[in-house]
Amino acid sequence: MKVLFVRSLCVSLWLGCLGFAISAHAEKPLPQMTAPKPLMQAKQVVPNVYYVEGVSEMGSSANQNFISNAGFVVTPAGVVVIDALGSPELARRLLAEITKVTNKPIHTVVLTHYHADHIYGLQVFKDVGARIVAHGAAREYLTSDTARLRLDISRQELWPWVDEKTRLVPADEWLITSKMFVVGGVRFDIQPVGPSHTAEDLVVYLPKQKVLFAGDLVFRNRIPFVGQADSRHWIEAMENLLQFDTRWVVPGHGPISNDPKGDMTLTRDYLIYLREVMGRAARDMEPFESAYDATDWSKFDKMPLFKSANRMNAYNTYLLMEHEAK
Ligand SMILES: [Zn+2]
Repeated sequence: MKVLFVRSLCVSLWLGCLGFAISAHAEKPLPQMTAPKPLMQAKQVVPNVYYVEGVSEMGSSANQNFISNAGFVVTPAGVVVIDALGSPELARRLLAEITKVTNKPIHTVVLTHYHADHIYGLQVFKDVGARIVAHGAAREYLTSDTARLRLDISRQELWPWVDEKTRLVPADEWLITSKMFVVGGVRFDIQPVGPSHTAEDLVVYLPKQKVLFAGDLVFRNRIPFVGQADSRHWIEAMENLLQFDTRWVVPGHGPISNDPKGDMTLTRDYLIYLREVMGRAARDMEPFESAYDATDWSKFDKMPLFKSANRMNAYNTYLLMEHEAK
């Protein structure tokens, strides 16, 4: 069973934060260069706080891996960016969006976690002198075979946007506990919330603006990617996030939410449901396939990416529940 569990983790990791479409890269020469780029336009959340929204798709060279969100906060001392997007090209486009709003330099980049679609743009920010802050639990991943293999695959799947020049960039500051910092008079509360979606999850909260950058703890308008997540802690972390006095949530994927409670509850309820139905099946030693087919998915099956993500989420949860039961 352990083997199965590990294999599932590998499958999840290979599929990554959102997974890759099984690419037809080899059969279709260079469509990426001519395909229309996915639109990127900075939207204001509240004054001086912005975000860009990735598309609700699997990562591919056609969308430059623009499948996750990033945020930025303009302060008199410079710009604080939250997440670096999924390819260097996207990071350059994000820099261009920032330049439309301010000529201040990039002061800091805070990473919510080290999944590929949030970090492959990091080198661009490093090159312009930004300080990178992330949770220390990612350090082990960064030097792992998994991260290296993942990058090798991405160089093919996401070529030419991720190529041999794309590199993994470590943080300059690795956090272990929560931290408050002030840049140009703007306060940022950084709160570790892992292990949930990943071991190194962080959220970034602006108490004055009541804006929460929730990373991939909150998925909006789509089925979450569960992958190798620790869903029990993830549910606990959601309870914790529900305590924040939040007016706006910028999720890791999907549009901004002015209904933080509703959206967080949806992600939480999905995880609870997965654990409940797959936990029961695992306990009863019912085979996954029949348990999956017998499950009523009607509460979630209209959500985008249900078809591509739900079965894998359920399968991983089934294995996790078997593992937890030991
Ligand atoms: Zn992720």
